[in-house]
Amino acid sequence: SASKHDKDKGVNIQVLLRCRPLSEDELRVNTPVVISCNELRREVTAIQNIANKQIDRTFAFDKVFGPTSQQKDLFDAAVSPVVNEVLEGYNCTIFAYGQTGTGKTYTMEGGGRKMKNGKLPSDAGVIPRAVQRIFDILEAQSADYNMKVTFLELYNEEITDLLAMEESKLPDDKSRKPIALMEDGKGGVLVRGLEEEIVSSAGEIYKILDKGSAKRRTAETLLNKQSSRSHSIFSITIHIKECTPEGEEMIRCGKLNLVDLAGSENISRSGAKEGRAREAGEINKSLLTLGRIIMLLDSKLTRLLRDSLGGKTKTCIIATISPSIYCLEETLSTLDYAHRAK
Ligand code: ADP
Ligand code: MG
Repeated sequence: SASKHDKDKGVNIQVLLRCRPLSEDELRVNTPVVISCNELRREVTAIQNIANKQIDRTFAFDKVFGPTSQQKDLFDAAVSPVVNEVLEGYNCTIFAYGQTGTGKTYTMEGGGRKMKNGKLPSDAGVIPRAVQRIFDILEAQSADYNMKVTFLELYNEEITDLLAMEESKLPDDKSRKPIALMEDGKGGVLVRGLEEEIVSSAGEIYKILDKGSAKRRTAETLLNKQSSRSHSIFSITIHIKECTPEGEEMIRCGKLNLVDLAGSENISRSGAKEGRAREAGEINKSLLTLGRIIMLLDSKLTRLLRDSLGGKTKTCIIATISPSIYCLEETLSTLDYAHRAK
């Protein structure tokens, strides 16, 4: 039908591939490289030697970022258009998906934590760059706006608020502030009991990221688990006050979710459970790649992101891989799962 067609047209999914460089340790021991990235052709080739025969497998993506790509390159080419969409009032989501140690957190948060002369360092990741870009655009427009962020972690269907001031507590601790998901009556989901922080400069984001990752580490120790098994979601909500030509006041609201998924080696790919598959199917049957990724997610994560997936939104999946021969098996799974469905 026409309406279904329009709905599909509004959905926009980009699948990007980023291959990190070899680390100094890997270089020191001459780790063989088995990945070659062709940024122009937007293809990645994995080279496998089986029984002395070289077998190449090539995968296509919407964009490919090789080992020498910079944080800024990835942001400008892939994330900046999504930020524009958010400022137009859409809900958008960016996922980092890949094996532990391949650069998901580096891509999302980045290495640097200090502003220099009011500028972000070159290794600043997607989150601080997105925040900076949003401020720059809104300031240039002299817009009347406010920006709020939340930062949470999802582990075994259990939500931890990474911004809450209180000390981390075990999930069975009775004094722990309960966090619950509730329907908001508009097709979205509210997280009750989640701390929201109002930010007014990009520099503040570093403090929030630091606070969040410190908290993530405490929670890890308390729960005796590793962050490679948890998802983290950093959400930015922007309200912009506008006046219609008739002089009426309107609020435009956009949201950007930045999701650092659990290490892909920890996510079962042995076929999604039926319930999960059904939920993913409801989001959008025609979106194969997104569907495949969503089927890997906790049902709670799918619910959390429901108002930001499908419909008129932009979704960007950044698949991260290592070039090392020792990661090849997991790399092939990532490429298989994330490659662009043609
Ligand atoms: P993940 O979050 O997927 O487990 P990390 O982001 O922690 O992986 O990255 C693992 C290590 O590799 C970190 O020391 C990180 O700084 C480094 N790294 C990852 N991607 C890159 C990159 N593109 N350029 C330089 N260093 C990187
Ligand atoms: Mg990480």
